[in-house]
Amino acid sequence: MSLLDVTDAAQIYTTRRGLFGRPVKVRAVDGISFSVQPGRTLGVVGESGCGKSTTGRMALGLERPSEGSVTFEGAAMPVPRSAEWRDMRAKMQLVFQDPLGAMDRRLTIAQQIEEPLVIHRIGNAAERKERVAALLVDVGLRPDHAARHPHELSGGQRQRAVLARALATNPKLLVCDEPVSALDVSIQAQVVNMLTDLQVARGIAMVFISHDLKVVRQVSHEVAVMYLGRIVEQGDPEALFADPAHPYTRALVSAIPVPGPRRIPRIVLTGDPPNPADRPSGCAFHTRCPVAIARCKAEVPALRHFDDGRKIACHLADAQTKVAE
Ligand code: SF4
Repeated sequence: MSLLDVTDAAQIYTTRRGLFGRPVKVRAVDGISFSVQPGRTLGVVGESGCGKSTTGRMALGLERPSEGSVTFEGAAMPVPRSAEWRDMRAKMQLVFQDPLGAMDRRLTIAQQIEEPLVIHRIGNAAERKERVAALLVDVGLRPDHAARHPHELSGGQRQRAVLARALATNPKLLVCDEPVSALDVSIQAQVVNMLTDLQVARGIAMVFISHDLKVVRQVSHEVAVMYLGRIVEQGDPEALFADPAHPYTRALVSAIPVPGPRRIPRIVLTGDPPNPADRPSGCAFHTRCPVAIARCKAEVPALRHFDDGRKIACHLADAQTKVAE
C-alpha cells in the first residue's frame, strides 16, 4: 500500500487583480496525482511559482485540496490543526529551506529537537534527553552543540539540527522544501548524503521539492516535473534525465552544468512562466515552447502513460520517441 496518495488534487486560491479589481480564481495546483511508497522519494521540480510548495503543503495536510484527495496510510487527511491532524503530524514532518526561520532563536538546539517530543508527549524527561543526544549524533552534530543557540551554528549545522528535530518523532514521511538551497555547494553535498543515509536506515519516504535538478536526480526514485500547477512529465529519474521527453523538461535538463560536451544542447527558454491567474489556453507551456504547433494553443494535452513507465503531457510525445527539437 502507498504511504501517500494524491489524486486529482487541485488548490484554488481567490485573488484580486489590483487593489479594486474583481476576485479571480487561481489554480495554483491543477489536478495532480502521485503516490509515494514507504522508503521511496518523489522529487518535485519546476520553476518558482509552479505549485511545488503548495503540493508539499497539501501532502502534509497543511492545506486541504480544493478538489481531489490526499490520503496518508489509506486514510483521508484530518482537518488542518485539529487534534487528529496533530496526532498524524508526528508521522510526517516538514524540512524548510531556511533553518534559521524554522527555529526559535531563544531556544537551545537541544530544546528545539526535544520540542516535538514534548508536543506529542513522547517519553519522559530522561528518555527525551537520551533521544536528543542520539539524534545529534545521527545528524553529525557534537554533544556540545546541544547547549548552543541557532545563531551560534553554521548554516549546515543549523540544517542538521532542523533535520534532527524533524526526525525526533520517527516520522514515516518527510516533505523537504528546498532543504539545501540556502547552503554552500560543498555543504549541500554533505547534508544531502546524510539525508539519504538516514532515509535508507529508517525507511522514511520523502517528497523532495527543489529547483535544483542535480540534487533531485541524486535523491529521487521518481521525479515529477511541474509547470504552472500541473505535472508535465513524471517517471524514473535515470530515464527522465538521460532522455527528457517533454520540451520543458528538456530545457531544464539542458541547463544542468556538465563537464565536457553536452548530450542535449542548451535550450534557453524565453520569458518567465505566465501568471497562473492568466493561464494560457491549451498547453500552458505553448507561449515558451520552442516546438509548439497550432494545436497546442487550442487543446490541453493530457498526461499520458508511455511504454517505459513515463507519463508525459505533450501533443508531440508518442509511444516510442521523445519530442524532437
Ligand atoms: Fe510544446 Fe505543444 Fe508539447 Fe505543449 S503540447 S509542450 S506547447 S509541443
